[in-house]
Amino acid sequence: LSDRLEGAFKTFTGDNKITEINVATSLKEIRRALVAADVNYKIAKEFTDKVKEKALGSKNVLKAVKPGQMMVKIVQDELTELMGGQSVGINVKGAPAVVLIAGLQGSGKTTFTGKLALHLKEKRKMKVLVTACDVYRPAAIDQLTVLSEQVGAGIYKEPENKNPVEIALNAIAHAQDNKYDVVIVDTAGRLSVDEAMMQEIADVRDAISPNETLFVVDSMTGQDAVNTAKVFNDRLNFDGVVLTKLDGDTRGGAALSVKYTVDKPIKFVSTGEKMEQLDVFHPDRMSQRILGMGDIISFVERAQDQFDEDEAKRLEKRIKKNKFDFNDFLGQLNQLKKMGDIKSLLNMIPGMKKAMGDIEIDNSAFSRVEAIIQSMTPTERAQPELMSMSRKKRIARGCGQTIDDVNRFIKQFDQMRKMMHKMSNNPAMMGMGGGGG
Ligand code: GDP
Ligand code: MG
Repeated sequence: LSDRLEGAFKTFTGDNKITEINVATSLKEIRRALVAADVNYKIAKEFTDKVKEKALGSKNVLKAVKPGQMMVKIVQDELTELMGGQSVGINVKGAPAVVLIAGLQGSGKTTFTGKLALHLKEKRKMKVLVTACDVYRPAAIDQLTVLSEQVGAGIYKEPENKNPVEIALNAIAHAQDNKYDVVIVDTAGRLSVDEAMMQEIADVRDAISPNETLFVVDSMTGQDAVNTAKVFNDRLNFDGVVLTKLDGDTRGGAALSVKYTVDKPIKFVSTGEKMEQLDVFHPDRMSQRILGMGDIISFVERAQDQFDEDEAKRLEKRIKKNKFDFNDFLGQLNQLKKMGDIKSLLNMIPGMKKAMGDIEIDNSAFSRVEAIIQSMTPTERAQPELMSMSRKKRIARGCGQTIDDVNRFIKQFDQMRKMMHKMSNNPAMMGMGGGGG
């Protein structure tokens, strides 16, 4: 997906302005990318229509920011909005609060039950009881037992009882008697939606009236996730969604489609088999993931605040003519320092990590770099190509560093200069086009 979107934004690199034509080209690519990430076509279409409206309406494209970046921001803002805008927390008020976990077999319910227990215990300091209402597979009860011990939660089980409604009610009574703050009810699932299963979970729900019913869905199931979510929601009218298996390079499209289809907030994402691998869902982070483009948005925002547009123009010219020198470098260092942590800033730019190659960036190294430049004569600073062995030796003595240090920095500077020059003469590599970072 990332590659495709980068392709889509390439249309905006260089001096292109946001116009009907390049918006249309780019939106087509974005739509294709979203569909490839398992977003339903109809949803993708409605989405890009909205983006188009916004893009053509945005007149204040800052000169310092490439239209492509502005476009990314519009797309990202819209994606975030579509996924609910803000995080929605879980409702665990009650004595005890009751949380019901529903979903297909293998979606990650039992794993999530353990994770949620840990989360509520650590983050909310709650005394947590879990219970296994999977009456079909004794192994499921063992699995939850192991997890509950691992996370330090209580467990309530009745291996002989074949009635999930009774087990759930007894678990809640047990929680009341033993002053638990919350009961998490794990349930059985089937490999596909069937009437008996829906009836069973609906019966449990009706009997225990949970404060919170969470639907767990495997994000790797793509389009199926949407259908399953719809069936479960029609029957249970659940309160929130848990997206599992979002680790590795699972496509995030399911998040978008599920939210759009059932209009229920996604509350948690599960990103691995370990109990700690649970995150509260943040729409803005998910849209970044779907875009797969690094934290470009905050870079754009910070750049808008800090960058002097004219200075940027002047530098661009110098880079194009391969005139970028140590004075410019020093100036940039100071600019960057004003913007915060340099390494993380550079990492925010898509493709930058790759482009930098083995050039090591270390915040603490900057004062040493400054010292090296300050030990150069004005002529040397303005004409980096003059650098020779005897000059380097003198500089090293002047700044109190080794000749190796000076050599390394000058080599890095040369590499960077070459790379910037190459990029400036190959507009496709500027801005969005640098490859996934
Ligand atoms: P259930 O049948 O719905 O209770 O699903 P389980 O909790 O037993 O999970 C099914 C399988 O998926 C197990 O092997 C879990 O370890 C695995 N699993 C669950 N959540 C995640 C996740 O977020 N990431 C990964 N990689 N595996 C997961
Ligand atoms: Mg299970």
